[in-house]
Amino acid sequence: MTPPALPAIEVIDLHRNFGNLKAVDGVSFKIEKGTVVGFVGANGAGKTTTMRILATLDYPTRGTLKVSGIDVTQYPAEVRAKIGWMPDSFGTYHHMTVIEYLDFFARALGFKGQERTRRITDVMDFADLAPLADRLINTLSKGMGQRLCLGRSLLHDPEVLILDEPAAGLDPKARVELKHLIRILAEEGKTVLISSHILSELAEMCDSLLFINEGRIIHQGSAESLKRDDSGSTIIRVEVHGDTRALLEWAQMSPHVKLKEGLKEGARIEVDSVDDQITADVLQRMIKDGLQIIEFHREERKLEDAFIDILENIEAQKNQTTPA
Ligand code: ATP
Repeated sequence: MTPPALPAIEVIDLHRNFGNLKAVDGVSFKIEKGTVVGFVGANGAGKTTTMRILATLDYPTRGTLKVSGIDVTQYPAEVRAKIGWMPDSFGTYHHMTVIEYLDFFARALGFKGQERTRRITDVMDFADLAPLADRLINTLSKGMGQRLCLGRSLLHDPEVLILDEPAAGLDPKARVELKHLIRILAEEGKTVLISSHILSELAEMCDSLLFINEGRIIHQGSAESLKRDDSGSTIIRVEVHGDTRALLEWAQMSPHVKLKEGLKEGARIEVDSVDDQITADVLQRMIKDGLQIIEFHREERKLEDAFIDILENIEAQKNQTTPA
């Protein structure tokens, strides 16, 4: 019988303290080979710290991390050979051309002669960098720079990619291009851990999402399972004629209704039931109370809703366990 495949990434009870600050506070997760996982959390949640430790650039205060079964702190050189790391900032190589930059890193990785040329050509083809070969890095757009960074992380054809906010600051076209490149890498069987604040974008690229909050993992699951409505509630988009303030106030004051999000023309509200009769009653009450409804329809739960629900549940649990 063949033994079960080792996870591509395994993090067990990771802690990283900076002085009194618990930046990562007991994080554990597993990522199977060939999957793309989104790492989601608010600013300061602990994403970069976790990723930097995985990329062998920092040490854990305690805990175990493995890449393809290899311990990250005990065998950093072996782990580096298996991972490609794309940091959230570019570094200071502004006076090099694209080709000089790739050549520099290919040499640093120890590639020589034709092998080095082949590796550089491969990543230039993949990330569409050939037309930019002689451009100075400080003349590249943000999107071109990100493609170069991704290309650099692929020079040694790593099994696992750790990408820290690769889409930050990109325009819509560059985002689509980047998403396409990441999907190709996934189809080639690479494992990708990718952080972002933009949930909808991650959902399109990722097989599953890992939510982190205040240094702790609060959820791991597929985007679909998160959107699936097991909350027992219904999300409704309402638009009104004229001023939206009356609608917002109404939503905050009314029974069975919660204001999810104010919009330019109205609001997204949550009705605490999946019963159509209750939804119909809500619409009837809105009209009776004088709101000028021009649009009222059920909407799929957004990932942001799921994320906020998880955070609210955690807060509620904390409040239950904290003595008054
Ligand atoms: P962002 O989305 O803003 O990049 P993040 O989830 O990546 O946030 P981290 O960069 O991991 O968050 O930071 C987690 C916490 O650790 C933050 O409070 C941050 O200020 C702190 N922190 C990170 N690096 C250091 C450091 N070298 N020294 C002290 N504190 C640090």
